[in-house]
Amino acid sequence: MSEQINGKGALCRFCGRPPRPGQHRAPGPQGPICTDCLEAGLVLVRDGRERRSLGGTGLARLTAVSDDACEFCGRRERRSFLGFHRRLARMSCPQAQAVICADCLNRGGELINKFLRQRAH
Ligand SMILES: [Zn+2]
Ligand SMILES: [Zn+2]
Repeated sequence: MSEQINGKGALCRFCGRPPRPGQHRAPGPQGPICTDCLEAGLVLVRDGRERRSLGGTGLARLTAVSDDACEFCGRRERRSFLGFHRRLARMSCPQAQAVICADCLNRGGELINKFLRQRAH
């Protein structure tokens, strides 16, 4: 199941583009996110400016707990072990109804960096 969703021809959840040859993407429960969207997302969750993905879809920031949860981890907020709730910025693509949080963007970026480092050896 997840093989198909994240398979070779699967479209990026946020820009709707198929992978370029040799491009690595971070897998997700609904489909992958490409490196271009990971990079755009890491900037967007900080500056909050709406932008367009390289596939032409709109990308916007969500910060309210009432907004959609991250589809990669299911969270809307960070919870510390003392029970405090903290805001968790997310990038959303309204056309695709795709959402990813700042933590999953970081994790996806690290995954791809690790993969690229292993390939370099
Ligand atoms: Zn993308
Ligand atoms: Zn997440």
